[in-house]
Amino acid sequence: MAAIEETVHEPVAAKNEFAVENPATGEVIAHCPDLGAEAIAAMAKRGREVQPAWEALGFEGRARILKRMQKWVIDHQEEIIAVIRSETGKTYEDALIAEISYGAAAFGFWATNAEKYLADEKVKSSAILVKGKKLLLRYRPLGLVGVIGPWNYPLTNSFGDCVPALAAGNAVILKPSEITPLTSLKLAEGLKECGIPDGVFQVATGLGATGAALVDQVDMIMFTGSTATGKKVMAKAAETLTPVSLELGGKDPMIVLADADVERAANTALYYGMLNGGQTCISVERVYVEEPVYDAFVAKVTEKARALRQGTGAAGSVDVGSMTFPPQVDIVERHVEDAKAKGATVLVGGSRGKKSDPTHPGYWYEPTILVDVDHTMSAMTEETFGPTLPIMKVRDEEEAIRLANDSPYGLGASVFGKDTKHAEAVARRVEAGAVCVNDALVNYSALELPMGGAKASGLGSRHGAGGIRKYCQQQAILVTRFATKKDPHMYPYSAKMTARLGKFFSFLYGRGNRD
Ligand code: NDP
Repeated sequence: MAAIEETVHEPVAAKNEFAVENPATGEVIAHCPDLGAEAIAAMAKRGREVQPAWEALGFEGRARILKRMQKWVIDHQEEIIAVIRSETGKTYEDALIAEISYGAAAFGFWATNAEKYLADEKVKSSAILVKGKKLLLRYRPLGLVGVIGPWNYPLTNSFGDCVPALAAGNAVILKPSEITPLTSLKLAEGLKECGIPDGVFQVATGLGATGAALVDQVDMIMFTGSTATGKKVMAKAAETLTPVSLELGGKDPMIVLADADVERAANTALYYGMLNGGQTCISVERVYVEEPVYDAFVAKVTEKARALRQGTGAAGSVDVGSMTFPPQVDIVERHVEDAKAKGATVLVGGSRGKKSDPTHPGYWYEPTILVDVDHTMSAMTEETFGPTLPIMKVRDEEEAIRLANDSPYGLGASVFGKDTKHAEAVARRVEAGAVCVNDALVNYSALELPMGGAKASGLGSRHGAGGIRKYCQQQAILVTRFATKKDPHMYPYSAKMTARLGKFFSFLYGRGNRD
């Protein structure tokens, strides 16, 4: 694995370096520089120097490099998957489906669509003072964008934000999570091979303080991670009036209505509850099932969960991987123990350690199904971010909607019901940035569709026009093509002229009030 070998500096972390572990085994696999504020300032200087030439390349010039990179990701997918797995512990399929396929799509999508979303827009105005003038809205790149990435999807989350920022003509500094910096370094190699000019894309490895230093240096900060750290980033950015966009945590509910296809609902709940070991901001985190189908739903989920294979094996041999962030095991355990103490029943799993091999080294938690749960339990109210699926019986859809909305978060949600018109009506009442009917999460793959959180789940959005315009300054342009003989600019004022103007405006705007 080239990326890993190249980033290993010494077997033991030197000063100003940090160790990267394989969470599935607990072994140290690399060391990376822990960059301080001075290094970040130097990188920012470099980024600003080269950005104007990158912007001047135009959409086509930039797209050529990004499209080359799309091919590079596919050509190197086995190497990239190996790097991703080594630092996250996820399964082959989780890396292939949710990282490689999204990443490759994103490079192509923004290369193709950046120009469409950022083209000058002609604006028509009813204002009398601008009659006959050309009015334009244009989107100019902000300059230097900082992206702070989390550890759960080191390719998808971080590059999902870097690529549109680059396509818009910005230079970018990416600060990956200290837990998973190797994927970013691997992709940086790829961008270099594909011809991105030196300094346009830089990776700043380091700890939390490196992220904080980055906030001070850039023209815009895109952050993905916990709500708590998102608030810190926003407070720091406020000191320099730096714009921020935040993709934060979630507690996504699934509602299963009485007329749902129970088999499909059970498959979806389990798949999107366990995807990436449950470490997905839009995971199914809690399920509310209407009474008539509750028993059937629980029986199906339980049977399917018992059959899940957990481990580190080759493609096609395991379904659920390890936890990525060591303290996450403690959070999951705390939620499960708290639920048990308050009366929940564990139908499957319920212990830390790897299923069927509890003494395996590394950071593991068994796929876990909980029932008899309620909103006194943290498993139903706090982001668990692990392989747990708590299922709650509800009287009717009103109770389901009320409980779904009983959360500080509002990222994603799903509703299952065969009467899709009715299910959609229920979906519209859920307070979330995105709601799927008879599916979950797949909206994320539609790069044309905005994805962003309501309530404490974030500010701004990814994907669609808003997902690239946020990396630009809106600039209004007004062009007066010719001067009329009677120039309306009227210094010095005369009483006659002022009186005429007064009459004119009261005629113009008074008309609307006559009825
Ligand atoms: P954080 O939100 O703390 O970390 C996200 C990123 O922010 C990392 O790159 C981190 O660096 C960086 N960072 C940390 N402190 C600062 C700071 N003061 N200023 C700027 N950047 C900073 O996530 P955690 O790893 O601590 O995970 C905590 C919880 O967040 C999880 O339990 C989970 O619930 C949630 N989470 C949500 C994600 C999502 O996709 N919405 C993704 C990951 C986690 P470093 O890693 O080096 O500390």
